Amino acid sequence: MRMGTENQKPVISECEEQGSGARIGIIGGTFDPIHLGHLIIAEEARYQFQLDRVIFIPAGVPPHKPDRPITDKEHRFDMTVLATEDNPAFEVSRIEIDRSGPSYAVDTLAELKKIYGNNTRLFFIIGADAILEILTWYKPEKLRCMCRFIATTRPGYRLSDVKKKLPEEYLERITFMDAPGVNVSATDLRNRAASGRPIKYMVPKAVEDYITDNKLYVVEK
Ligand code: ATP
Repeated sequence: MRMGTENQKPVISECEEQGSGARIGIIGGTFDPIHLGHLIIAEEARYQFQLDRVIFIPAGVPPHKPDRPITDKEHRFDMTVLATEDNPAFEVSRIEIDRSGPSYAVDTLAELKKIYGNNTRLFFIIGADAILEILTWYKPEKLRCMCRFIATTRPGYRLSDVKKKLPEEYLERITFMDAPGVNVSATDLRNRAASGRPIKYMVPKAVEDYITDNKLYVVEK
């Protein structure tokens, strides 16, 4: 139990503490495409939180992005593998790609606990924009007790604003991490690729080549 900062109301954590086993970071996303912003926060979290590994989990059917066509999941998976293969601590999981229906984080975390054991400590690495949406996710009350969150800086989002907008029982589960800010988004990359502008240096070279070879994001005329 710890005291609330504003009105000194006691804040009681009903969440069971995590085990003492391996420290596993997970980073979920549409990865359409994966870019340097994702890789930088994953590596910074690995270092700052002494994570044994970081698992990238491309969403199969993202529950929060239904308003645009999403690139085929196998392309998104392949790009994520290419982007992460030079880092021995990085892995890519097919958990959400192979599951039918919407990719809910609670289901994914439950599956990871089954695979890696209940003693495993899970750290959910997430950008400042996405952590603000957590209350709208499926079963947020259950989710917040299943892992610790590492919320990272992202250009355009101030962590102080994020802190003001989330209830105390959620803040208690979140550690805020400063990471080098890279103002890259997958939306901007798709738009760039569609209009022939460069994406070089914003994605790893292998991902850039994959996008070109497979004509991803090219708008049919
Ligand atoms: P889109 O533009 O299509 O919405 P995105 O670039 O935000 O995509 P996602 O796959 O939706 O990428 O993001 C996965 C996770 O990575 C989210 O937690 C998001 O906040 C975080 N993230 C994405 N880009 C950055 C960035 N440049 N800096 C820090 N975090 C980022």
